[in-house]
Amino acid sequence: MNIATRTSLEQLQFDNRSLAALPVDPVTENRRRQVTGAINCLVTPTPCPAPALVAMAHEVAGLLGLDEAVCQSDRFARVFAGNELLPGMQPHATCYGGHQFGNWAGQLGDGRAINLGEVVTDAGRLMLQLKGAGETPFSRTADGLAVLRSSVREFLCSEAMHHLGVPTTRALSLCTTGQGVWRDMFYDGRAKQEPGAVVCRVAPTFLRFGHFEILAARRETELLAQLVDFTIREYFPDIAATASGREAVLLWFAEVCDRTAAMIVEWTRVGFVHGVMNTDNMSILGLTIDYGPYGWLDNYDADWTPNTSDPGGRYCFRNQAPIAQWNLLQLANAIHPLIGEAAPLEACLNAFASTYTRRAETMMAAKLGLVQFDEPLVQSLLALFAATEVDMTLFYRQLGQGDASELSPERLAEAFYQPGEAHRCAVWLDQYRATLTAQGVNEADRRSVMRRTNPAFLPRNYLVQQAIDDAEAGDFRQLHRLMDAARRPYSDDHPPELLARRPDWARERAGCSQLSCSS
Ligand code: AMP
Ligand code: MG
Repeated sequence: MNIATRTSLEQLQFDNRSLAALPVDPVTENRRRQVTGAINCLVTPTPCPAPALVAMAHEVAGLLGLDEAVCQSDRFARVFAGNELLPGMQPHATCYGGHQFGNWAGQLGDGRAINLGEVVTDAGRLMLQLKGAGETPFSRTADGLAVLRSSVREFLCSEAMHHLGVPTTRALSLCTTGQGVWRDMFYDGRAKQEPGAVVCRVAPTFLRFGHFEILAARRETELLAQLVDFTIREYFPDIAATASGREAVLLWFAEVCDRTAAMIVEWTRVGFVHGVMNTDNMSILGLTIDYGPYGWLDNYDADWTPNTSDPGGRYCFRNQAPIAQWNLLQLANAIHPLIGEAAPLEACLNAFASTYTRRAETMMAAKLGLVQFDEPLVQSLLALFAATEVDMTLFYRQLGQGDASELSPERLAEAFYQPGEAHRCAVWLDQYRATLTAQGVNEADRRSVMRRTNPAFLPRNYLVQQAIDDAEAGDFRQLHRLMDAARRPYSDDHPPELLARRPDWARERAGCSQLSCSS
């Protein structure tokens, strides 16, 4: 069947490979428990009172081969808010553990995520996952629900990241549930009811480092070997085709290191701070996953993290690469029993550092439109960023506009939060021009590379907060506006208010620069 012709939801074809290949917990009762000897637990999403579709990504519907009209039906909202199952769906939650803020946290698992099944598409199988559709055996002390605020953030950002060219899980839909959800957003004892929502996320798999760690921690070595083997076969077929046994595991780990490095370089390019880089939030495919208290750098501050639960800045912008390496070390420890010696795993971890540096240098060269990375030039730019309050996004974008010979502090003034600080970039601009000349950079090439590397539009923290404020009042127009803009991040053709630097009122406002984990 030509996949693009699916005109009803029944035509979605499921092939739930991970459920078929990996052990399922025999307990089917939905009660909190430690789940051993299994990866998957069968669960049923909890129906909500009034499912309503409020936003969707037609690109993701397209990946699934779904006709747009199908997505506007009441049935679509019922299915993707968790009220109805389609033939072939087998809802299940998965068991994982994780290191949270550097400490082993034991079993975590899909506490409010429910995999519905794997849709067969032209581009391979894609797992559909509801976030916020009710309790699972992994819900611990929480309710399995999600609020509209955090769901808007996840929906928008995952699609924005995709259009920016950053590896990420996708989002098909955002449905409101008509159910109030109690949250103490500031953790100050003033809980209030917020509107509930469900996002349907889409990715080849939602396996995380933590899925492997929990099995190692419990010494379930056979199951660990089975999961690793499954992962390589299903998601890394090139490795499975050329290697087997221990050799395949090492090639796979090297590939995970490489993809993770590539992902962090992309975060750095666009100024993204994940906020909660616990090992349970690290995708085995090198995708950005679990959008919680994330944020974008407005004024460039490498020590910044939006997460109010991280006062020490463990997961701040500048720490993302070393933390990724630390997380990979935890994954290496987990798979060590399958390798039997540390040296080859250590070699991969060391290669992470060199791969990251090489990729980051290439990326920085592109941000500046250079042919080659120039260390002193980049160092003095970062020193300028540290000494002044510069909007990273505006600075790079404007640097790539107009002829290099005409670049001046006045032309870059918009990027500076403190008027009067712009003149401080004059010396650096001279250094930049000298480098362009020394490298023989072609001016047209420079601008075109910079246009493709430096986004004009990002769903900045304060813009998303405005969309949330409106959405909570039942008005989704700002959300749709941001979603439209997020589809064309490298175009300048947007309303000026979407491209402006963060206004002063948003500097300290909750949701705009500081976010709690409450979601
Ligand atoms: P997070 O901080 O969102 O990455 O979540 C860490 C762990 O807490 C995961 O196991 C989540 O499934 C679980 N969790 C977070 N929020 C909830 C919730 N409202 N209900 C159930 N489990 C949750
Ligand atoms: Mg998580």
